Amino acid sequence: MEADYLAKGWERTESHSDADLIVVRGCSVTRRAQHDCERLVAHIKAKYPATRLIVTGCLRDESAERLSPAVRRARAILEGMNAADDEDEETPQEIEEDEPIPMRTARAYLKIQDGCSGKCSFCIVPQFRGPSFSIPFSSLMRKTERFIEAGYTEIVLTGCNLILYASGGKRLPELVDALARLGESADEKSRPRCRIRLGSIEPGACALETVDVMAAHANVCRYLHVPAQSGADRILTAMKRPYLVRDVVELVERAKRVSALAGIGFDLMTGFPGETEMDFLSTEGLIKRLCPSNVHVFPYSERPGTIAAGLLDAIPREVRHDRARRLAAVAKNHRSQFAKKFIGQQVQIVIEDEKEMSGWTGEYFQCRIDNKGRCASVKRRDIVEARVTMARHGALVAAVV
Ligand code: SF4
Repeated sequence: MEADYLAKGWERTESHSDADLIVVRGCSVTRRAQHDCERLVAHIKAKYPATRLIVTGCLRDESAERLSPAVRRARAILEGMNAADDEDEETPQEIEEDEPIPMRTARAYLKIQDGCSGKCSFCIVPQFRGPSFSIPFSSLMRKTERFIEAGYTEIVLTGCNLILYASGGKRLPELVDALARLGESADEKSRPRCRIRLGSIEPGACALETVDVMAAHANVCRYLHVPAQSGADRILTAMKRPYLVRDVVELVERAKRVSALAGIGFDLMTGFPGETEMDFLSTEGLIKRLCPSNVHVFPYSERPGTIAAGLLDAIPREVRHDRARRLAAVAKNHRSQFAKKFIGQQVQIVIEDEKEMSGWTGEYFQCRIDNKGRCASVKRRDIVEARVTMARHGALVAAVV
């Protein structure tokens, strides 16, 4: 979205007080997330009353009566319902095919689909976004080519549910294969022009095939983010998730066969209605067994309009939060332990911060270069090879080879 605005001639300011327009990327997947976004919007409106504000993300899809007045006003501006002060201003939405793509980071986000046809009992997204629809394959190929030509060295595939991608007979594995080929260099031994990073991916046959594609291309990042949610089959079934714990294990083990150091991210939810201490311990056990490198833990919160919100066996809020804290502590320890396994290993870093000479490895670890003297010619967005010398607080330090 930032790229869209820059292409239309807008400039990014360093502080909110200098801005003519503030964009809030809102989320309403959990009640807490929505509450936080609403508070932020109210704060911005109060502090910068003359500044135009727009709200994007699924917060803007929430039904109007459930939103605070500040968010309703901001959303109205976005939808043009209250465009009194916006009539002569252009609000860019899309990059036209022939427009230049401005650069601010090394990483470009490629939205491949939106919406979801899932029926997860806790989720409001299908009601906001509707069923899944995919961006045409040819359009994604063109856009990726243009991102690469513009100098992006990492492209992140995004969407509500990536495994639902389907366009012109191409599913996610075929799409990843085609995009990875675009990013490869002509000479196999050289560094890729660009690497591809998968967004969150649900366990199942399509995800396994996608990991096989990862194995076939060195420029597909060795990182999987799995919205596992729970380590107890009973809870996954109550959530109406379309997989069981064994499917999560199979997916992670397949990725670990591609690379023993593949990074694994998990989304986990604690305190779903009916979750017993035993169920919780199963989730904790899943972390201990699979050693994910990144874990996002969310205490369950009821979303009005979902099946789960009507379930009777609600877990007290303090238990949900206590379990979330316990899981987060276990996960943090595992990340630190896992990071140490990289010491002595060669990693590939996309440089994001030229001053600090730091960036991200394909396995999604932040990594700083400590022999800067050897990097006089290294610039932001460059892909560099480095050997890890130290792991500290779950981040890496490396020397360029
Ligand atoms: S897969 Fe489930 S949790 Fe994810 S967006 Fe679809 S319905 Fe929601």
